[in-house]
Amino acid sequence: MDFPTACPQCAHVNRAEFADSSVHDLRCARCGVRYCVLVRKQKFEVLFDLGTRALMDGYAREAVASFAAALERFFEFYVRAFALEQAAGREGSFENALAALEGTWRHVSSQSERQLGMFALAYLLREGREPDFLTPRGLGTDFRNRVIHRGALPTRAEVDAYAAGVFTLIDRLLTELGAGAAHAELVQEQTFAAHVRGLPDGVTVVFEEHPGMFRARRFGTLSPIPKPAKAQLQAAQSASGVNDARAFQQALFEQALAERGSLLRGFKSSS
Ligand SMILES: [Zn+2]
Repeated sequence: MDFPTACPQCAHVNRAEFADSSVHDLRCARCGVRYCVLVRKQKFEVLFDLGTRALMDGYAREAVASFAAALERFFEFYVRAFALEQAAGREGSFENALAALEGTWRHVSSQSERQLGMFALAYLLREGREPDFLTPRGLGTDFRNRVIHRGALPTRAEVDAYAAGVFTLIDRLLTELGAGAAHAELVQEQTFAAHVRGLPDGVTVVFEEHPGMFRARRFGTLSPIPKPAKAQLQAAQSASGVNDARAFQQALFEQALAERGSLLRGFKSSS
């Protein structure tokens, strides 16, 4: 996925390919000036936005893979945030805590089932309760596997429902994490700082906050969930599980899509 960036020198719009590191060293196609764009956005946000864009463009099947990957990367984000939050309350440096976390993650990085296990424990330790949403039904696992592994062609309605479920789960867990998410975000800030220190003189650094749907909600530019609706959602979730909450999840996602989805169009390649 590429996105537009404005040259800090001449304002020419150059397009950049989203990098895994969120660091983009660019040279303006018009004036030749070098600049560096740092995108403050987590991997799960990038993937979720990719899925949303694919859905809006009519690629329902492709969207499923992005939403599924977004959920997996969000579980990783949660584990990282929790581990660093815990470490912050103890003696020792952030660098050591991060190194221990990276080393630990390597043991699970190639198997998503192991990662799910780590997330389950992190959730239990942080919230003091069972992550009861980690059921195949709650995660839409059967649907995801049918589409990704067995080549099923889903309807738009099925993908909408899946996306809504993933959106609602991530949104809820981010809300629970609250300020705890800042610990994981600090890692990205440090990566940025290290990169900026290594840049030669004369390279302009540009920080970008992209209009991701989760970021929008967290920083308050998306309408908050009205209180009665929130209570209704929680009641529906605790009463008889996922199914009753589906319609409501759908409404939440549709609302987010209507408010922010159009901004994602800005990422679309114009060439
Ligand atoms: Zn330029």
